[in-house]
Amino acid sequence: MQRYAIIGHPVSHSDSPQLHNAAFAAHGLDCTYEAIDIDPAELAERIAELKSSGFAGFNVTIPHKETIIPLLNRLDEGARAVGAVNTVVHRDGVLVGFNTDIQGFQTLIAPYAQSISTSVVALLGAGGAARAALHVLTTAFPPKRVLILNRTIERAENLASAFSTSGTPIVPESLFQDGLQDLIKTSTVIINTTSVGMKPYTDASPLEDVKFQKNQVVIDLVYTPRETALLKSARNAGATVAGGLEMFFNQAAESFRLWTGKEMDVKKMKEMMEIG
Ligand code: NAP
Repeated sequence: MQRYAIIGHPVSHSDSPQLHNAAFAAHGLDCTYEAIDIDPAELAERIAELKSSGFAGFNVTIPHKETIIPLLNRLDEGARAVGAVNTVVHRDGVLVGFNTDIQGFQTLIAPYAQSISTSVVALLGAGGAARAALHVLTTAFPPKRVLILNRTIERAENLASAFSTSGTPIVPESLFQDGLQDLIKTSTVIINTTSVGMKPYTDASPLEDVKFQKNQVVIDLVYTPRETALLKSARNAGATVAGGLEMFFNQAAESFRLWTGKEMDVKKMKEMMEIG
């Protein structure tokens, strides 16, 4: 039997165990997938444990996507370009890091390519998911400008500087400032990559008092709940909205392919999880 997992802190919100176990069963594979909560202070020793106990691979979520990098033996090209890892493959004592959020995010935003490439994009957050999003935005759908709005401004500045040669103007900003409403008003596409609004804190929004407009597209990477407080308020204002579920399925399908060499039937998995 092969063992797989998702590691994070917190991690109980994740639907990945349900999805991957269903996909393993659908392919008749003798594999299991579990959620493992790992405190950031214990990351190095717990990764060594996963390795010695023979886990064949694992997903990585908040807040470990960047801090795991020095603990891996190699990164693939995408993970290196992004500077964050969400999937690890373990073979013969070697841990290789990948970033399948790239494929997941690309699928999620493809329907909005036209709006993105002609507008200013407000990217909320500067963590692992924001890195993958910025990589895709600047390589596949370059906007006129990207505003990175983050609680910790230094992290927004570091991210902007990491992508300074991308050819897209990137401006770091604080998420907590008086001019927030005006910054959002100038952005046609708003993408939340922060964890604000995720279960169990579903009443929270990263843009609490901001008013949206009909011409805006608001995308939230959070997929638990399916409609976050941010999306609800944008939808009530007549904006176009999209949640993180499409990204969730597509990043998972890519991880599944890396681990098993098999294609996940995303449509069937959506039906099995009764959300498609
Ligand atoms: P991360 O690396 O830990 O980054 C978290 C981000 O959220 C940081 O920018 C952090 O700001 C911000 N944040 C956290 N608490 C906040 C608060 N109370 N107020 C304002 N900002 C706050 O996590 P991640 O891996 O990027 O994941 C972020 C979210 O994206 C999670 O909800 C995750 O589930 C979701 N996600 C979804 C998918 C999908 O497939 N749909 C894929 C990837 C990620 P600071 O820098 O100030 O700490």
